[in-house]
Amino acid sequence: SFNPVSDLENGAERSHDGGKVGKEMIGAALQKHIQSVDPHNCEVGEEDAFFVADVGDVYRQHMRWKKHLKRVTPHYAVKCNPDPMVLRLLAALGSGFDCASKAEIEQVLTMGIDPARIIYAQPCKTKSYLRYTAKQGVKQMTFDNTDELYKVKEIAPDAELFLRILTDDSASLCRLSQKFGASMENTQELLALAKKLDLNVAGVAFHVGSGASDPAAFLKAVSDARTVFDQAADLGFTLHTLDVGGGFVSETFEDMAAVLSGALDEYFPPHIRIIAEPGRYYTSSAFTLACNVIARRTVEDKDLGIKNYMLYMNDGVYGNFSSIMFDHQHPVPQILSSKRRPDGFNYSTESLLDSGYTSAEEGVTESNGGRMIDYSIWGPTCDGIDCIAEKWASTETVDVGDWLYFEDMGAYTKCSATRFNGFTDKHETIYVSSEPGASALLGF
Ligand code: PLP
Repeated sequence: SFNPVSDLENGAERSHDGGKVGKEMIGAALQKHIQSVDPHNCEVGEEDAFFVADVGDVYRQHMRWKKHLKRVTPHYAVKCNPDPMVLRLLAALGSGFDCASKAEIEQVLTMGIDPARIIYAQPCKTKSYLRYTAKQGVKQMTFDNTDELYKVKEIAPDAELFLRILTDDSASLCRLSQKFGASMENTQELLALAKKLDLNVAGVAFHVGSGASDPAAFLKAVSDARTVFDQAADLGFTLHTLDVGGGFVSETFEDMAAVLSGALDEYFPPHIRIIAEPGRYYTSSAFTLACNVIARRTVEDKDLGIKNYMLYMNDGVYGNFSSIMFDHQHPVPQILSSKRRPDGFNYSTESLLDSGYTSAEEGVTESNGGRMIDYSIWGPTCDGIDCIAEKWASTETVDVGDWLYFEDMGAYTKCSATRFNGFTDKHETIYVSSEPGASALLGF
């Protein structure tokens, strides 16, 4: 009886507090999984780090999108997190897909998605990938340089090309414009060459940088895009689509959307189709990662009477915490379990809270109750760079065998994990759904 579409439309007035329900479901799934792992007898891999993903969270992000960016059809950036359940849900919700490689295009096509819902948003494409793309009927793709135009002419002359322009991405978390985007001085020349080669330029694309924080960047990019539309019209092209890229973050989404919507309405009449390539906006908060503490080292300064503790987890910067290196993230640890295990066994040879511990930070020994314990948190590889948090304080004892969890681990995490040191890059994902609409679409 549940209608996902009407749920979307009535999003703001709902009594269902999906965020709260989601947190509870994630907590329950985390607990259930760790209780199922017997630390004394488990098989190799059973205590591996694992994700819990709330697909309801992705669904809610889509509702927000529909509410605040009505004009803009999202094309989810698969690179951000190619999780199959996320892709299935977004496909069912009507999203398109931004793919950057043959493998991403193949993954989306294998789901039965119409090639017209895909944009190959990589201005510098591998020739064999382009051959594959052309054969599969994926026509939309970006370009930003003359060499690429010759390549497209040779391999995919029927392509619908989007000229990607440079943006001011200086206020973004991950800058892209030092690598991609034609400057406004070059757009005329590129359009003229496309015309000469008899190619089909169908639109303009930009990306204001991943994790954008300055709405003015969107404003300027939309106005630059208008200039390119006009240049193209003068050359006889009829551009019909503007691609406003990604860069949206949940925290500032409404503000960004308001500025972007205003700019779109000012510069682009309603018959121009607007698409976007959001990645982290959709998946960041949906995924929580749980990691097992595999080792602990006590570091003691006898002169100062200070102790702190190094915790080694079974996931690190070469794994799902690759976001620390590549995405400038600072994941925040939280304790999932401390020494109270179902079997009552305490791995620790010493209970930290009973050890006369002195906080290095405070420089004083506090009463047992609220006393902070200083930790640093490390990944499992041999490399010293594999550090998740140099400093983390908690009142709780964390022992070998305990679990820590980290929220907001859905964007640019598992997609860039490696197998360095022989650790796995394939971590289990347990799915929950805090939204009946998402459950209905996915058949949960
Ligand atoms: N589109 C392109 C071309 C990108 O390079 C990226 C990220 O690098 C995205 C979309 C997704 O960006 P975001 O996750 O910030 O929305």
